[in-house]
Amino acid sequence: MESRNYIGGEWMTPTAGELVVPNPSNTQETVGLVHLSAKEDVLQAGDAAVAALSKWTSMTPGARGEVLLKAAQLLEARAEEVAHLASSEMGKPITEMKGEVKRGINLLRYYAAEGVRAFGSVIPASQQQVLQYTKRVPLGVVGLITPWNFPIAIPIWKLAPALICGNTIVWKPAENASLSATALTQVLVDAGLPAGVLNTVIGQGSVVGQALMDEVPLDAVSFTGSTQTGLKVGEQAARRNIKYQTEMGGKNAAVVLADANLDIAVPAVVSGAFTSAGQKCTATSRVIVEAGIYNRFVAALRDAVNELYVGSALDQKSYLGPVASAAQFEKVSAFVDVALREANEVAQARLQVNPASGYYVAPLVVDGVGVQHPLVQEEVFGPLMTLLPVRDFDEAIAVCNDTVYGLSASVFTENLHAGMRFLDEAQAGMVRVNLETSGVEYQAPFGGMKMSSSHTREQGQAALDFYSQTKTCAVYYG
Ligand code: NDP
Repeated sequence: MESRNYIGGEWMTPTAGELVVPNPSNTQETVGLVHLSAKEDVLQAGDAAVAALSKWTSMTPGARGEVLLKAAQLLEARAEEVAHLASSEMGKPITEMKGEVKRGINLLRYYAAEGVRAFGSVIPASQQQVLQYTKRVPLGVVGLITPWNFPIAIPIWKLAPALICGNTIVWKPAENASLSATALTQVLVDAGLPAGVLNTVIGQGSVVGQALMDEVPLDAVSFTGSTQTGLKVGEQAARRNIKYQTEMGGKNAAVVLADANLDIAVPAVVSGAFTSAGQKCTATSRVIVEAGIYNRFVAALRDAVNELYVGSALDQKSYLGPVASAAQFEKVSAFVDVALREANEVAQARLQVNPASGYYVAPLVVDGVGVQHPLVQEEVFGPLMTLLPVRDFDEAIAVCNDTVYGLSASVFTENLHAGMRFLDEAQAGMVRVNLETSGVEYQAPFGGMKMSSSHTREQGQAALDFYSQTKTCAVYYG
């Protein structure tokens, strides 16, 4: 498989460079070849998106929805193939990746139907015989910058609402998900998207992303990725006064109170921390445990970690696979080294594969560090869980909120009062009781507080608010 750009209705092979993609599960194996774009490709994509705008905008939302419905059908028909490619490219276990593709299909169907949903409102006017109402109109050309950790679902949760609202798009996928992005673009092309409506430009963030932000006449940008890059994108967007949304990092906590049901808490914490090898912005990274249950929780957690199956992403039995890339391996391994040096090891899973065959990091649980330690404050984005014992609920909330991030937080308790207090007091955009931190539903708003986001929301109806703007109309008919 080779990556390609899709610009102005044409498939193109950019020539600014090439990258061979190794399979993170087995780095001896090559998955494909990525062709990198130059600034000129991005500018061409911007021109194509501008040129296609009036035609796409003037189509009825229902007609735009037909394209999304067709894309859902095609993605369903190609689900196995797309999941296999994405798992091979970035190492997410195939069973999880199939779930992600299914979610992409649901998102396409959901936003297809949004085309014909009633929206806007009629607002009484102060003058007689005046009809005053609001309507939603497209923003124009939207730039989408996506990460590699959800190579199918994140692009779709931006593309589908942007398209149904009548915008045209320049999409810059993560370099590390270029093959998946090419396959997803093919689905949308085959679904009948008119030329120029979606323009996919494959390449490096420092070249393609930068040119997109600096030179393409964007009306809005939606970004998901690291806080460092997100803040830069936000600054550039603010300077140009274009609408923007940045979904960034997390340092998500699960709080286990003394009365927690461990049959619920332990699997939820393990899943939150270790599925996708911990590479989710909503992954559980800190587990705050009330003293009264600490020893019992640790014993049950150890048993669960000992049973984890860590193997190739294409092995159906794998609970988690490798991390996504050499860069991720280096970054996460550095945190593991710090953890093994400066914290106490509580549990570490065994690998079911030769560690040297791919980017494998054995899931690790540690304790014995203070709340200001880098393991507790920095986003690791790997299978590393830090336990923090606390005296009581008040200390648990204080520790939970002692972070610059605010994406998701969970509490495990049988006490309704404690659960409701947690929902009130935890400073996070996604707050949950007796559920893992990383559950996200496409029909509900998703996003964080504090440094985790630009305080906008994605998915559900919130995405339609982002990808459109409101006009207040008034008609005098006297
Ligand atoms: P980045 O934030 O750098 O990448 C996210 C997207 O932004 C990619 O498409 C990237 O392109 C692009 N990009 C990079 N630089 C620029 C730029 N100057 N202007 C515009 N776009 C740009 O994250 P990384 O992939 O480098 O991952 C590094 C760390 O970020 C991870 O270890 C993790 O901690 C965090 N991360 C968090 C995510 C989350 O969901 N919260 C998702 C992904 C990463 P390219 O890939 O080509 O460089």
